[in-house]
Amino acid sequence: MNELGPSAPAGARNLVIVVLDSLRYDSWVAAQPPNLASLGPVEQRWSYASWTAPSHYNLLMGLLPHHSPQGVYASEYYKDDFLKYSERLGIEGIEFRKMLPSLYIPTYLRNTLGYRTAAMVSMPVLNEHTCVNRDFDAYELMPTHNDMAAMLDKLEFSDERPSFYLLNVGETHYPYALPDEDPSEWPRISGVHGVFKRLDDEPGKGDAREFFDQDKMRELQDRQIRSVEYVDGVIGRLFDKLPSNTWVIVTSDHGELFGEERYFGHGPVMHEKVFEVPFVEGMVP
Ligand SMILES: [Zn+2]
Repeated sequence: MNELGPSAPAGARNLVIVVLDSLRYDSWVAAQPPNLASLGPVEQRWSYASWTAPSHYNLLMGLLPHHSPQGVYASEYYKDDFLKYSERLGIEGIEFRKMLPSLYIPTYLRNTLGYRTAAMVSMPVLNEHTCVNRDFDAYELMPTHNDMAAMLDKLEFSDERPSFYLLNVGETHYPYALPDEDPSEWPRISGVHGVFKRLDDEPGKGDAREFFDQDKMRELQDRQIRSVEYVDGVIGRLFDKLPSNTWVIVTSDHGELFGEERYFGHGPVMHEKVFEVPFVEGMVP
């Protein structure tokens, strides 16, 4: 114990969780990102929630996207899944019950295991005044929603204390814009820019309900794929900055709909693609 709290166990690793907001599993696969691939094979997993806030809260409880296992009690799955934190952190004896009663990874890492805890988030819905910000030593809503590279200069690691970082990355979120792209060039979901068509524009269709133009939807997913290609370059620079004793997890908080069954985006959507997310983890390459 010192003035900062408990001393970390010897050999404790840094942990960095990168959440590529809204990234669909198949957009990651289409992008074939080489730096992310160097972390390990990407897995298809399932988010516990269909939008940003509950999904981040859940993963900060330690419950990362799941495998949807059949024939298992949820409580058993949670327990087994949690044991993996021993490997991730390089600390023996991590157990779910040791997180009681707060059930929050930042609390456990900081107050029990002696970590420095920090978050940089891109989505305003995760801003520092929300309940997601509990037991973080540093927590910042980034000035722009789509600039992961701006996070790199702010990363701090020390030999005294292991670090936990949550990085919520927005380039992969609608409008899938790279930081140097002029906002006037961003696509807009509105009739003016023609993402919507009206069904009664179609010959033989008398129904006036709007639906999504599939060509525009494909363009939007292509933009998300391009954003993964770009972010992968930033991830490569992130890997160069991380100390060698760092465990990295890269995943998404939820998927995105690109016109399937007349859905676009995420949130109030009940569709497989809003829960399907990529997941990869391992020691920093
Ligand atoms: Zn999100």
